[in-house]
Amino acid sequence: MPEADTILVVEDNEQNLELVEFLLEEAGLKVRKARDAEEARAQLAAGRPDLVLMDMQLPGTDGLTLVEELRRDPRFARIPVLALTAHAMRGDRERFIAGGCDGYIAKPINVTSFVDEVQAALARSRAEGEVRA
Ligand code: MN
Repeated sequence: MPEADTILVVEDNEQNLELVEFLLEEAGLKVRKARDAEEARAQLAAGRPDLVLMDMQLPGTDGLTLVEELRRDPRFARIPVLALTAHAMRGDRERFIAGGCDGYIAKPINVTSFVDEVQAALARSRAEGEVRA
């Protein structure tokens, strides 16, 4: 049996963090958690996750700044990142993609489609890896 994919969830809202953790673990994925940029950097230093779910509204360094930081680091440049945001406004999606996010999940999270969206991003990432290999 292949090892489960690991998802790093960066989210400062405890309820959202717990909901996301529950849904991902129920789907057989491994979850690591960070509540701000500092914790996220520590988690990334501890090991490369297969995908990052990144809240855009974080205290201190915001999610998009953190994604831009990841993209400049060769170790993390290709990790799929899905933006999480509660305040989607016109142009936000384009801004997040331009900043290095691969996709976007709106909050409140749709519990029926959330895991599928994460799995689809993991599958796209794997397919890209196979093309490169
Ligand atoms: Mn937040």
